[in-house]
Amino acid sequence: MNIAKLVFTPLTYTGWGALRQLLPEVEKYSPKKILVVTDPMLAKIGLAERITAPLEEEGYSVTLYTDVIPEPPVETGEKLVAFTRTGEFEMVIGVGGGSALDLAKLAAVLAGHEGSAADYLNLTGTKSIEKRGLPKILIPTTSGTGSEVTNISVLSLETTKDVVTHDYLLADVAIVDPELTVSVPSKLTAATGIDALTHAVEAYISVNASPTTDGLALQAIRLIGRSLRKAVEDGSDKQARIDMSNGSYIAGLAFFNAGVAGVHALAYPLGGQFHISHGESNAVLLPYVMAYIRKSCTKKMADILNALGGNSTYLSEEQASYKCVEELERLVKDVGIPPTLAGFDVPESAVESLTQDGVKQTRILARSPLPLLEDDIRKIYQSAFDGTAVEPN
Ligand code: NAD
Repeated sequence: MNIAKLVFTPLTYTGWGALRQLLPEVEKYSPKKILVVTDPMLAKIGLAERITAPLEEEGYSVTLYTDVIPEPPVETGEKLVAFTRTGEFEMVIGVGGGSALDLAKLAAVLAGHEGSAADYLNLTGTKSIEKRGLPKILIPTTSGTGSEVTNISVLSLETTKDVVTHDYLLADVAIVDPELTVSVPSKLTAATGIDALTHAVEAYISVNASPTTDGLALQAIRLIGRSLRKAVEDGSDKQARIDMSNGSYIAGLAFFNAGVAGVHALAYPLGGQFHISHGESNAVLLPYVMAYIRKSCTKKMADILNALGGNSTYLSEEQASYKCVEELERLVKDVGIPPTLAGFDVPESAVESLTQDGVKQTRILARSPLPLLEDDIRKIYQSAFDGTAVEPN
C-alpha cells in the first residue's frame, strides 16, 4: 500500500466575513511592526485598507508595500526581500492574488537569510532555506491559486517560471473570505477559476494522488463546476463567490499534497514567453493535455465528468473520458477564454521554444499519469495551436 505524505496547514478561516478573524490572530503574535504586501490595484480599490485600517486603529505600526506586479519577475521578489530585510518587521501579511501572496511568503522567509531570491530557485538555485523567518498571514483576494495553503512561491524568469519551495513558506494563518473576491472583474474571475479547477483536476489524476486528496479534489471540482459560470456572469452572486472561494482553497489543499502535472508544466513557458496570465495559460491547455493523457486515466476522467455535473451512468469509461474532455472544453469556452494558442496571438513558430522550456519542468511532469516526453509536449502545444485535440500514436 502506498504511503501518502499529507500536510494540512495553516490554521485557516473560511467563509463570508472571515476577515474579522484577522485582529485576534495578529494579537497572538504581538508584532511591533507589520509589513502588509499587496499590489497597486488592491491599494487603489481600497481592499488593502480593509486590512491596514483596523490594525492601525488597534495601535499596530503598519507599513504598506504595494510594489507587486502580476506574475512577479524574480527582480520584483528581490526588491521586496531587500525592503523586508531593512525594516525590522515582526510579521508579514500578504493580501491579494497569488502574485502578492507568493511574494509575501518569500519575503517573510528570506528576510532571515542571505543571498538573492534567485539563489533559492528550484531549477537553478544554489542555496537552501534553513530558517522559518517571520510569521505570515495570507489573505487571498482571488479564487484561483491556493497560494495561501502551499509552500511554493512562483517567480517569472525571462522565458519561463520557476519556484522557491520549502515548508517554511507555509503560512501561519490563512483567511479565505469570499467577500474580498466580489470586486474581481469577470475576465479575471474566469482565468483564476479555471486555474483552481486545473489544480483540482491535476491533483485528482496525479500519480501522487491519495484517497484524501481525491476527496478534496472532487469536492473542489463540484463547487467550481456548479459556480464558475455564475461567478463570471454576475460577480455579485454571493453563493457563487462562496463556492469559488471554497473550491479554490480546497483545490489548493489537494494539489499541495498530490501535485499538479502536465497542464501546469506546459503553462509555465506560455506565461514566461508570452506573458499570458497563469490562469489563462492553464485554461487554454487544459482540454488538450487532458485529451492527450486521457487513455491513462479513463476512470478518473469519468469521475471528473460527474463532479462537473455530467452523468456517466450510461457511458463506458472510455466514452465518459471523451465526454470529460468535451465538458472541460465547453467550460473554458463558456467563461470566455480563447480556446487556442492562436487566440492569444502565439505564433505557430513558438511551438518549438515552448517545447524546449516545457520539457525542463521535470518536477511537475513527473506527476503525469502518462509520461510526457519532448515529442509528446511538442504534439500537445501543436494541438493547442491548431485547436484539434490529439492523442499519442
Ligand atoms: P494576480 O495575483 O497576478 O492578480 C492579477 C490581477 O488581479 C492584479 O492586477 C490584481 O490587482 C487583481 N486583483 C486581485 N484581487 C482582486 C480583487 N479582489 N478585485 C479586483 N482586482 C483584483 O493573480 P492570481 O491569478 O491570483 O495569481 C497569479 C500568480 O500566482 C502567478 O504568478 C502564478 O504563477 C502564481 N501561483 C502560485 C501558486 C502557489 O501555490 N504559490 C499556485 C498557482 C499560481
